[in-house]
Amino acid sequence: MPAVAYVGLGANLGEPRQTLSEALGELASTPGILDCRASPLYGSTPVEAAGPLFVNAVARVETSLSPLQLLDALQDIENRHGRLRPYRNAPRTLDLDLLLYDALEIDSPRLVVPHPRMHQRAFVLKPLTDLTPDLVLPEGRALDLLAQCAEQELWPLLN
Ligand code: ATP
Ligand code: CA
Ligand code: CA
Repeated sequence: MPAVAYVGLGANLGEPRQTLSEALGELASTPGILDCRASPLYGSTPVEAAGPLFVNAVARVETSLSPLQLLDALQDIENRHGRLRPYRNAPRTLDLDLLLYDALEIDSPRLVVPHPRMHQRAFVLKPLTDLTPDLVLPEGRALDLLAQCAEQELWPLLN
């Protein structure tokens, strides 16, 4: 049985929409990714940081990769798109976060799942609930958590 995992995508440097669309293609064609479905794209203002507006999306994948193998694949894709980490919350060409991996809870130096900040981020919860409206996180129903993020600026991007 493949695992179901969710990946958060974000970019605010370069050509964010093109980068996200390329990253989704690369994710879908990664060996061990058996199915990949993307949410609509959203625009958002940077949280806890200055810089250009973000483009965000979430992908639901079915995968035979382990959580760490999937993280490796995500970091390879980030690196191919020139991701640098000059300082915390710096603007980035591409950020891929492993949000959920089945119902697993992982707390290791390289990987914490569920992603510890996803439940307070509208730019994650909105596309996540577009894909899976009845999703439940450790902190509660994703739709209820989204309602608590109403003050965060987020808007749908036209295709
Ligand atoms: P945030 O985690 O708040 O969204 P960020 O995405 O900007 O911040 P990064 O600089 O991209 O943070 O990642 C820092 C480290 O986080 C990575 O080197 C990675 O090993 C680790 N990490 C831990 N858990 C995860 C996860 N669920 N998904 C992706 N990276 C993770
Ligand atoms: Ca992130
Ligand atoms: Ca990240």
